[in-house]
Amino acid sequence: MGFFYRHNIHPFTECLKRQEALDQYADTADFKVIHQKEYDLRGFLQNVVYRESDRCLYCYHDRLKSTALMARRGQFDFFTSTLLYSKHQKHETIRAMGESLGKSAGVPFFYHDFREGWKEGIETSKRLEIYRQQYCGCIYSEAERYHRKGS
Ligand code: SF4
Repeated sequence: MGFFYRHNIHPFTECLKRQEALDQYADTADFKVIHQKEYDLRGFLQNVVYRESDRCLYCYHDRLKSTALMARRGQFDFFTSTLLYSKHQKHETIRAMGESLGKSAGVPFFYHDFREGWKEGIETSKRLEIYRQQYCGCIYSEAERYHRKGS
């Protein structure tokens, strides 16, 4: 079962592209996806403004907490995160937060170093012609990806 959290994916048109890509893959791989209905762009920005350099900590926490609560509601055995697939994220921080939130929610966090599947993931998405994101998600990461100093 997948869970698509989306407050951190900007702009909304990018969010829809990623949602569509996930749904396309879920059809192929035969699993279901729970979609977050809200799109709280303002709430996300209000929580990270003036501390942009630490924004990922808030982002990890809110994503993992939402997933843990969803897992509790659905009575799942474990929960985990696609953050653990990324080479660009802080694994030890995600692991510690996930385990702590799992204890609070009463659903264990499943840790695995999914980075080992990085290359395979890229090849699979190309083979299936699935949309590939070009930046992490928030507008700050979009600017870091595309803005060139002086341009
Ligand atoms: S860079 Fe990625 S992990 Fe960090 S705040 Fe933005 S969307 Fe979240």
